[in-house]
Amino acid sequence: MNPLLKSLSLLAIAFAAIVCSTTTSSSAPPTTPVQQPDQSTSRTKIVMLGTGTPITDPDRSGPAVAIIVDGQPYLIDFGPGVVRRAAAAQRAGLMPEVGKLTRAFVTHLHSDHTVGYPDLIFTTWVMDRKEPLEVFGPSGLKSMTKHILAAYKEDIAMRVKGLELADPRGYQVNPHEIKPGLIYQDKNVRVTAFSVRHGSWKEAYGYRFETPDRKIVISGDSAPSESVVENCNGCDVLIHEVYSEAGFKTRPAKWQKYHSSFHTSSRELGELATRARPGLLVLYHQLFWGMTEESLLEEMQRYYKGRVVSAHDLNAF
Ligand SMILES: [Zn+2]
Ligand SMILES: [Zn+2]
Repeated sequence: MNPLLKSLSLLAIAFAAIVCSTTTSSSAPPTTPVQQPDQSTSRTKIVMLGTGTPITDPDRSGPAVAIIVDGQPYLIDFGPGVVRRAAAAQRAGLMPEVGKLTRAFVTHLHSDHTVGYPDLIFTTWVMDRKEPLEVFGPSGLKSMTKHILAAYKEDIAMRVKGLELADPRGYQVNPHEIKPGLIYQDKNVRVTAFSVRHGSWKEAYGYRFETPDRKIVISGDSAPSESVVENCNGCDVLIHEVYSEAGFKTRPAKWQKYHSSFHTSSRELGELATRARPGLLVLYHQLFWGMTEESLLEEMQRYYKGRVVSAHDLNAF
């Protein structure tokens, strides 16, 4: 491509990235201009594959985030739709092919974060994954993995022994049950798991990713947790779940009890992020309960003066 055309198309892509990350899928206009990191030079990219919750919002796939360092993706959670969204990210030039998904970190075993597990195991195999999937997460992960592989044993036998002659290494999974601390390291990343409060779950984790040029913290599902503040502590990006404080007031008492014990309100997140001091706060797993995205951002700005963006699927940071 000639250099002028290339510069123009890069400008168009940058503009599109800014627009898509600050506007909403509905009628709410953008409220916070967001400066994107210079993705042409950063070795680390964050792609929001799914920003949803258990609610079946067709615009928001199940929770899944990819951190890509020098072309190697690291997946956090695998909610429903994860591999299709990864393919969409590949088509947008944000990620390598889905067969490269070989490292995954699950925050906790709620179904909205794990329903995509068989998809992750088997679809990436069909799409040419040639090495075992390494998966890290809480107690129960080994049992879940074993039962999924058992449930699909007819499929595995057909693909390996039938005319596909699929590579038998490609469906294999090595589940690693973790404890808080440094749980994974390679030339691209150091991954630290830390405990978060998620209602009555015995084990729920947030993760800190340290790459050559960025420090990224992700909350998973979490009520306000001091561990998030400690692990971020001026990090580049904090990806955190949130629910609307105004929406919460419309919920029945039973659900108010549940949500205040399992999740984080906009007010609580504002106070937490003020102390955690991230360069950019990314909201995901948003629970709106009838409120608009604009009003959620207004709530956030009431309690937090830093840069904040409400993420949509396929936003990149
Ligand atoms: Zn969830
Ligand atoms: Zn959960």
